[in-house]
Parts: sequence; structure tokens; C-alpha cells
Amino acid sequence: MAEKSCPYLKKVECDWLYPVEGYCEGYGGGKLRIPSIAEYREFCTSGRHTQCQTYVFRKKDEEVDHASRQKDETEPGHHR
Ligand code: SF4
Repeated sequence: MAEKSCPYLKKVECDWLYPVEGYCEGYGGGKLRIPSIAEYREFCTSGRHTQCQTYVFRKKDEEVDHASRQKDETEPGHHR
């Protein structure tokens, strides 16, 4: 898959998905979705994935998770 593909797009070879050649892990939490053909062409494989709403929401979630983890690690009494 080309480098300009969205990092949440996972390639699969599956005839019934044609012409989409992968699934999206952008929902997180193990949930998968199949992008529409329009999304696939417009965002997933075009290098414009940063304009996809699913991508934007997932990135925000990851930033919140990361910030939350950093806060936990700096709180007194936190032991690993
Ligand atoms: S561009 Fe959007 S729909 Fe496509 S794989 Fe990325 S998050 Fe999913």
C-alpha cells in the first residue's frame, strides 16, 4: 500500500471488498469499519487522511489517552 495511505487503513485481499482494499481501524477499541468507496478514494489512499473525520477523532482520542497516561505517571503514589 502506498506511503500516502492513512495509518489506520489495514490492507486485506478480499474480493467482496473490491474496489476498497482494506479496512479502517480508526474507531479504536478493536472496532473495524469498511470505508466507503468515496472515503477510500478521497481520504484513505490519497494522502488527505488528515481531513477524514474518523482520523481526526481518533487522533484526538489518542492525544487525550496519552495526556491521561502522562498525568497518571506523574501523580504521587504512582508505582509501576
Ligand atoms: S482515512 Fe479515515 S476512513 Fe480511511 S482509514 Fe483513515 S481513518 Fe479510516
